[in-house]
Amino acid sequence: MPKIQVYALGGTIAMTPTASGMVPSLGAAELVAAVPGLGELADISAETFATIASANLSFLQIKALCEKASLAQCDGIVVTQGTDTLEETSFLASLIYTGDAPLIFTGAMRTPEQLGADGPSNIYNAVLAACDAEGGVYVVMNGEVHDPWQVAKSHTSSLASFRSEDRGPVGHISEGALYLEVHEQQIPIGIGAAVTELPPVALLPAGAEFDIRILEQVVGLGYKGLVIEALGAGHLSEAWADAAETIAKTIPVIFTSRCASGPVFENTYGYKGAEIDLIERGLMPGGNIKSRKARLLLSVLLTDNALDWESRFLAIKASF
Ligand code: ASP
Repeated sequence: MPKIQVYALGGTIAMTPTASGMVPSLGAAELVAAVPGLGELADISAETFATIASANLSFLQIKALCEKASLAQCDGIVVTQGTDTLEETSFLASLIYTGDAPLIFTGAMRTPEQLGADGPSNIYNAVLAACDAEGGVYVVMNGEVHDPWQVAKSHTSSLASFRSEDRGPVGHISEGALYLEVHEQQIPIGIGAAVTELPPVALLPAGAEFDIRILEQVVGLGYKGLVIEALGAGHLSEAWADAAETIAKTIPVIFTSRCASGPVFENTYGYKGAEIDLIERGLMPGGNIKSRKARLLLSVLLTDNALDWESRFLAIKASF
């Protein structure tokens, strides 16, 4: 039987009721024990890594998890955690995890006590994927397999909340079998063992009538990079474009789109604040990479000052 390591980090999948509301409390062994038939699928080892809401998961925890997962003597790894930040933690793991065994992230939209709780089936499917995938980092939710570079939580409560708007899921689980489409996963960048923190990169959304006061603070606050979630195909007001140009003289500035799908443009609109102008002012178009992923990617690229973030970002963007 395949050997699968399960690490539990908390989240709704592990939450139980208290007088003050639902809180994370269940550990890995309890989560695994609640999944019928799991023992027939794999030889499971379970470890509670953290018991927290996913908003509190830190870079250091994800890095430690990836290091542990790389060393685990097993055929596959499953991580259970809260869904709120799963699109970011799995993406971060896809950048830094260099192990051979597949690393599968999952969670639940419903607590174990709720009718139709999805935690057990998600864990079952994640273990199945961990047994059968040939490597790489994936998100398994609601019977679908998603690429962490694509997936986002799109609904506050739907079981089908996890969606890859641009390209759809890369696989699904049906009748107890994993169907993975042929697709390319990004090669991990890796991160130095000595790195203990990510350089701070700010993410600011643009919108109608947004003033520039927060934008103007970014460099002074010590941010080492900025992602601006621009409008539509990559557009800002003239005031934001002026402020962004000033910032781009000091730190890297990437612009992405606040639209749920589609890349930012690079060569269509010519007015002040549109993508051609932003590029001429020194901003980097983010391509297909979504805002929250671009923020983490830039942070990881900036951990190694010796290397040129710009050429590495361009190469990654071109391959995605
Ligand atoms: N607030 C929870 C968390 O992310 C939500 C969830 O797990 O679905 O920890």
